[in-house]
Amino acid sequence: MSECPDCKCNDSKKYFRILNLVLDNEASDDQRALFNLHIKECAVCFAHYNIELQLRQLIKTKVSYKLIPEELAQEIRSRVID
Ligand SMILES: [Zn+2]
Repeated sequence: MSECPDCKCNDSKKYFRILNLVLDNEASDDQRALFNLHIKECAVCFAHYNIELQLRQLIKTKVSYKLIPEELAQEIRSRVID
């Protein structure tokens, strides 16, 4: 199999930029529509989108993991001290 036979993307850098805007909720409606249309046809950008999406969710999970409620933090501290 040749690499990416379905890829019709001639401007992946452009779409990669829009991808980041979409993920950051900073894309305009036009950009969002354009991108959604594009990833239906472009395996490369679709893959990029999914990787970035998972990466962001992972970062979010790690960030919220650090944001332990103060009560829980105190409980853990008291247990350690005990
Ligand atoms: Zn593309």
